[in-house]
Amino acid sequence: MFIIFSAKSFVSNPLSTSINCPNCGAKHSIEVILRQEYVCFFWIPSVPQQKEFIPVCNNCAKVFSNKEIPVGKEIRDSIKSPRWMWTGTFVGIALIFTLLGYIAIDNKNKEKATKEYITAPKVNDIYEYGADKSYSLMKVMNVTDDSVYFYLHSHQTDSEYSLRQLKEDGYENSFIDTLIYGFSKEELLEQFNDKLILNVERKK
Ligand SMILES: [Zn+2]
Repeated sequence: MFIIFSAKSFVSNPLSTSINCPNCGAKHSIEVILRQEYVCFFWIPSVPQQKEFIPVCNNCAKVFSNKEIPVGKEIRDSIKSPRWMWTGTFVGIALIFTLLGYIAIDNKNKEKATKEYITAPKVNDIYEYGADKSYSLMKVMNVTDDSVYFYLHSHQTDSEYSLRQLKEDGYENSFIDTLIYGFSKEELLEQFNDKLILNVERKK
C-alpha cells in the first residue's frame, strides 16, 4: 500500500538538571529528554504533535513520570523541538502561494488579451458573456470601422462554469446564422469594463 501519512518520533539530547534522583539518591543526576511525534506527508516531516518531557536518571537509568518528577517551565522552554518538523507545512504553504501567483498572472494576461481582442476584433473571435445566471457565447461575423457583428449561440447556461463546459463539448456548430447582433466597439469595451463580457478567445 502506498503510504501518504505516517508518524515518526523525535528524541532530543538529554538536558542536565540540578534535580537529585529519588530512586538511587544520586545528586543532580536527573536529565530531561523531549520526545515528540510528528506526522509525515509523503515522508516529509509536516506536523509536530504533542511534546512529552521525560525525566531519566543518568545513574540508575530509571525513567520517571511527570507526576514523580514535575518538569518546570524553564526546563521545558530550554529544550526546543526542531523546526524541520514543519517542513511539509512550509513547503505546502509556499506551493499554494506560488500557485495563486500563477493564477493571478494568468488571469491578468487573459484580461489583457481580451481587452486587446475587443479593441481590434477579428472574424471568428469567440466571446463569453453574461451575468445573473444567464451566460452564453457569441462569434464575430463581421467587423466594420466602428462596429462588430456577432452570431449568437443557441445554448445558454446558468453559470460561468457550465459555460466553460459548453465550450468543451463541441459548441462550434451551434451558432445561429440568422441571429445576428451588432455592437459598437465602444459598447463592447463598456460591457467588458462592466464585466458583462467575461472573456474573448481567438483561434491561433
Ligand atoms: Zn537514579
